[in-house]
Amino acid sequence: DAEVVLVGRSNVGKSTVMRELTGHDFSTGGKPGVTRQPNHYDWVSESFMFTDLPGFGFMSGVESDRREEIKTDVIRYVEDNADRILTGVVVLDGKSAVDIIDRHTERGNVPHDVEMFGFLEEVGVDPIVAVNKTDKIDDLDERLDDICDRLGLFPPWQQWSDTVAPICAKRGDIGALEDCLSERFHAHNRDDLL
Ligand code: GDP
Repeated sequence: DAEVVLVGRSNVGKSTVMRELTGHDFSTGGKPGVTRQPNHYDWVSESFMFTDLPGFGFMSGVESDRREEIKTDVIRYVEDNADRILTGVVVLDGKSAVDIIDRHTERGNVPHDVEMFGFLEEVGVDPIVAVNKTDKIDDLDERLDDICDRLGLFPPWQQWSDTVAPICAKRGDIGALEDCLSERFHAHNRDDLL
């Protein structure tokens, strides 16, 4: 079966997105970002499976060795399953993502979200960027353009509406993400028929 993986820093709203997509009410439990095992869920309306890979990215209070280990696990998981992974959804907090990315870049580091997006592209899983918490963003178009720019997607963001999905998971407003997922799902089925 096809699979969709979700990645993102802790607190960006991954659990909320998953709950909205799957109808499952689940709590993360434990320390954020340290879940080792991928969690599988079914999306009610389509026959594919969601896998929450919460270990990637920012993990406060986690030793750097352990952090690298988790990151390696996530990368290995995606590489090992790339054949059946339809897409990877990188969930961002739209309010803070650009600032965090720029801070890391200024320090000479590759920001996690940028790294993950590039990695997913590289292994051919065709990432989707879910820009969450749009309720907290004043100038949404400008913010989405900035996010595109940081990810190497040439603005304006509207050119990337198959890839960039502004959502407000807390209010259940995830239509843009569902559209992106449906598009991948149908493209996948078309490929299967060829
Ligand atoms: P996770 O750590 O990535 O799984 O994030 P959670 O789903 O636990 O959400 C982290 C916090 O962000 C919670 O307090 C959510 O209520 C909040 N949150 C999630 N989605 C939204 C949103 O669209 N807007 C706002 N303002 N807050 C949100």
